[in-house]
Amino acid sequence: MEDESSIRGFVVINLKRAGYQVVEAETGEQALESLAQHPDIRVALLDIMLPDIDGFEVCRSIRAGGGKMGIIMLTARTGEMDKVTGLMTGADDYVTKPFSPTELIARVDALYRRVGDEPEPEVRYEIKSGPFVLNTKTRILSKNGERVKLTQVEYTIMKMFLENPGTALSRENILQSVWGRDYYGELKIVDVNIRRLRIKIEDDTTNPVYITTVWGYGYKWGS
Ligand code: CA
Repeated sequence: MEDESSIRGFVVINLKRAGYQVVEAETGEQALESLAQHPDIRVALLDIMLPDIDGFEVCRSIRAGGGKMGIIMLTARTGEMDKVTGLMTGADDYVTKPFSPTELIARVDALYRRVGDEPEPEVRYEIKSGPFVLNTKTRILSKNGERVKLTQVEYTIMKMFLENPGTALSRENILQSVWGRDYYGELKIVDVNIRRLRIKIEDDTTNPVYITTVWGYGYKWGS
């Protein structure tokens, strides 16, 4: 939103060049109308000095309507008041005129990333324990950074262990969680898979330290 067409054109050209789709408005009223028509707008650039309602008012309206978009105020004045008022009305950032395209785009990019639908950080998918990292998104286990190839059953058992470190898990519990409640099998299948898993992850299978045995009950992650 900018009433001076030369500045508006300059902003629009640079935003488009940076890969953004742009909706222009010349007045505050137009801006509010456009925003209603395009609820998916992610970043609003609002000039403060306008002939009808000022940029602060538009900003306030956006926030009052529950708008979650990023808002950058474009101000011709360098006064601290603009910044304070802008931030108080709900703006996220402000750019002082004259600004360079690089500066403007950098601010827009930063705000766009902040308000955007960012993918969840990879770290949320990772369960770490000692030398192990289990990525629950890719279903890959690594030990000291090296991939350990697992079957789907082994993966499910590992996940259960890593989600319950230090907890004694009964063989029945493991059987039900991994193979499902309706599985009618012998508990021995648990032992067979634990043995195979140990071969893959333990340094010394005769003296397992990661998957330990809880005698007469089941298994546990750690000692
Ligand atoms: Ca203006």
